[in-house]
Amino acid sequence: MVLATMRRRGISGLPRNYELVYEALNASNARLTRDFENLGRNPGQDDLDALGKLHFPHHHRSGMVEGAHDRISGELEGMLRLLKQEQSSLESYSKLLGETYNRISSKSASSADILSSVIGVLSNATGDTMEKGKIVVGHMVERAREMEQVRLELDEYKRIANTDPLTRLSNRRAFDEMLSNMYNNPREAMYYSLIMADIDHFKQFNDTYGHPVGDRVLGVVAAVMKSTVRKDVFVARTGGEEFAVVLKDTNLDVTMEIAERIRRAIEATPLKNQKTGVNYGPLTLSLGICMASDAASAEELYNKADVALYTAKNAGRNQIYVYDPDINQDFEKNWAIYRS
Ligand code: GH3
Ligand code: MG
Ligand code: MG
Repeated sequence: MVLATMRRRGISGLPRNYELVYEALNASNARLTRDFENLGRNPGQDDLDALGKLHFPHHHRSGMVEGAHDRISGELEGMLRLLKQEQSSLESYSKLLGETYNRISSKSASSADILSSVIGVLSNATGDTMEKGKIVVGHMVERAREMEQVRLELDEYKRIANTDPLTRLSNRRAFDEMLSNMYNNPREAMYYSLIMADIDHFKQFNDTYGHPVGDRVLGVVAAVMKSTVRKDVFVARTGGEEFAVVLKDTNLDVTMEIAERIRRAIEATPLKNQKTGVNYGPLTLSLGICMASDAASAEELYNKADVALYTAKNAGRNQIYVYDPDINQDFEKNWAIYRS
């Protein structure tokens, strides 16, 4: 969808444009989506960059990825040149050794003079070659250090590009990547599960307390979710007030337990304004679960967890449903079965 939109709107295929269009179509940021729509067809690169800077200033290292490619190519060319120099210097050294050997073998006597002159020539040449070698090594170390710097910058860029700035959780892009990687190895996908969570009546919350309070609460919900699971568990904000937890090496039992732990933790989180004493809570989540083994692709897994989530919504919210291929079982019923 992103690529089709870029093509249709005449936007050049730079990674940073892709990022911008991705976020605009993802619609988690209504203002970005609107600003992007307003750019119309064939927007200038400057306008696109301005929009990128405005909406994710620390995301948007304009041109960094494109620049990194040129820098790495430059460093590699430099290394190649140095290696060629080193090779030709070793070749002349070897030629010198050959010539010296011929000189010795052509003389009949092995006088001290000949020997000392030969040792002199060899020693000079060896010292020379070693000196040159040292310089080459120095240059190579320097180039390797620069390449390492590029790698670190790219790692940092990747981290920022995969992070939701509001909550510091992984963002939708990281989530999409996680899910599609999961199904790249179908056998491994058997051991994953997905929990989708959506805040209940959040529109009403915003309408009552205002968007900025809503934003802060999103941060609180994210932090509570993150602290409820093990440190290495993948937690993402996949949309406005929608979150995802991906569990690895797990089963339905464990997944339901973790979902229930999250549900309770959010319900029990006090949301009191320290200054005014206003109590914003309680806030609740509805959750949907799908085991990765019950889906054949990333998209299917997401859709099925979403079906379970919306079943939980329809059943009255603040509860958990598990996607079942045959029926959508009530979590409470399952919970009782799995606990007994
Ligand atoms: P439901 O229980 O059915 O999920 O009701 P809901 O009101 O939460 O669902 P709906 O999808 O109708 O509305 C989601 C709301 O979430 C709309 C918007 O006001 C709010 N929202 C989405 N993204 C953000 C955000 O980044 N910040 C804030 N403060 N609110 C957001
Ligand atoms: Mg909601
Ligand atoms: Mg929602």
